[in-house]
Amino acid sequence: MIRKFFRSLEDLFFPPLCFHCDEDVCEEGTPFCKNCSELFEPLDPSERCSRCLQPLSHHSSHCPSFTKPYFQVYGSFENWGPPAVLLKLHQSQLFPKTASLIACFMLIEIERRKLPLPELLTWPQTPWKGVLPSPDKEIAEALSHLLKIPLAEGPTTGKTVGVVTGSIEDEKCLSFGKKLLEENPKRLILMSYIC
Ligand SMILES: [Zn+2]
Ligand SMILES: [Zn+2]
Repeated sequence: MIRKFFRSLEDLFFPPLCFHCDEDVCEEGTPFCKNCSELFEPLDPSERCSRCLQPLSHHSSHCPSFTKPYFQVYGSFENWGPPAVLLKLHQSQLFPKTASLIACFMLIEIERRKLPLPELLTWPQTPWKGVLPSPDKEIAEALSHLLKIPLAEGPTTGKTVGVVTGSIEDEKCLSFGKKLLEENPKRLILMSYIC
């Protein structure tokens, strides 16, 4: 892990080896080799609850309370192997293109499942927004750019709002959703890049 850390500092822009398996990476600027890129399997909706995306094998008869403020939950990929490494790279802020890569995977999943698009995008925010770096904010910005959907900058009244996050069960995500509901949006969609 330490070796990977230093290697990623050294080779910030063009890491020569795959971050997941250490094989050669042919394309400049990509963090994963071809084999590991193919391991980015999208979620299988048939194995997940359509409302909260929890695996049906672990699902009780009621959806968990974290979905309550949200009308629907979108997910992109499972939290294991290369996707989990991509997320760690993104959180470490050491590799410059991770937000766009994660946003691309979200876009692929949205198109594959023909999911309705929100009218505005945002991310779970705290009173310290703008002070601390936010991995969710960077991905929301990248997705806003890809989908040409504006980021919410004022009240969201009457709009369908996508909340971009990597932690759907997070208390912050739940309380942010409840707070947004006070603005009377049309509906809230939780857009999770990892489940
Ligand atoms: Zn690899
Ligand atoms: Zn559920």
